[in-house]
Amino acid sequence: MEKIDIKSMTPEELRAELPDLPKFRVKQIFSWLHRGVVSFDEMTDISKELRAMLAARYEIACAQIILKRVSKDGTIKYLFQMNDGELIESVLMKYAHGYSICISTQVGCKMNCSFCATGKSGFSRDLLPSEMLSQVQEAQRDENIRISNIVLMGMGEPLDNYDNVLKFLELVSHSDGMNIGMRHISLSTCGLVDRIYDLAEKKLQLTLSISLHAPNDEIRNRTMPVNRRWNVEQLLTACRHYSRETGRRISFEYAMISGINDNDQCARELALRLHGMTAHVNLIPINDVTDTGYKKSDIARQKRFISILERGGCTATVRRTLGSDIEASCGQLSRKHKGGNGYEG
Ligand code: SAH
Repeated sequence: MEKIDIKSMTPEELRAELPDLPKFRVKQIFSWLHRGVVSFDEMTDISKELRAMLAARYEIACAQIILKRVSKDGTIKYLFQMNDGELIESVLMKYAHGYSICISTQVGCKMNCSFCATGKSGFSRDLLPSEMLSQVQEAQRDENIRISNIVLMGMGEPLDNYDNVLKFLELVSHSDGMNIGMRHISLSTCGLVDRIYDLAEKKLQLTLSISLHAPNDEIRNRTMPVNRRWNVEQLLTACRHYSRETGRRISFEYAMISGINDNDQCARELALRLHGMTAHVNLIPINDVTDTGYKKSDIARQKRFISILERGGCTATVRRTLGSDIEASCGQLSRKHKGGNGYEG
């Protein structure tokens, strides 16, 4: 018989699952799970008999460190193995305000963006809420730190695993759990418009990041297949709705690819399209992924692009590149581990 995934349960679900236990006992179990124990034997204030009963019925999802790389700038990249052997990546970054972790939401990805290493490996499965929690917990445990910020920007498309991601958000922000507030969480999407409307209804205070990467359909159709399902205008309409409903500013990711989306006209068009929105543009020099042929735009181009955006009334910054010496961008490490050539240099 397959064991039940206990760490994905909310306190209410756990109480319903263990009706014979007193409430305080269930709360103890929940809080152990969210402190990141990997076995029931670590729950030292619970009787041996109860621990044995739990171990017989339930499984604790774990993220086992298979590989760890530390960059010169302190960024750490983890390659984690899930209980069933699947491999995923997370990146731990240190900022002035604390630690931030970029976690994966799926094993692989279905979106197939032309510049992304994750898409090249195909899609294997969704991650469970417990497996998203485990990435945060294991990094905390390994480095003996407390993580204050989470970005859902690793492998996978979070809105393509909508229910599990929402459950994860509920669990990770729970006051009896890790208690990481929504304002400390960002979710990045390539633009699943129907789900952006669903998410707007929840009125969560998280930061929504949109991977836009192109100012128009002509370019976006070429690099991001999702654009053929929902085009730029439909996406931006959903974003305006999201901003209105939640009162939150939206962040747009724009990976600059030399000769593809980085000329002056692209910058002007982008500024025009975002005009009137409470938005911020994050420019990212594209990370080289071999067999795409894409190259990053040079510094002069980045500066010129920003100045045009600013003149057009758009706030923009170039994202600090962290961990470039450890293949920190998503999909690069697991691809390499499995024998694919996910990186260059
Ligand atoms: N699927 C989600 C989140 C995962 S991708 C999304 O699309 O937003 C995380 C971010 O990395 C996205 O903005 C994605 O477009 C970007 N990205 C992927 N490959 C990249 C590369 N080679 N260089 C720079 N950014 C890349």
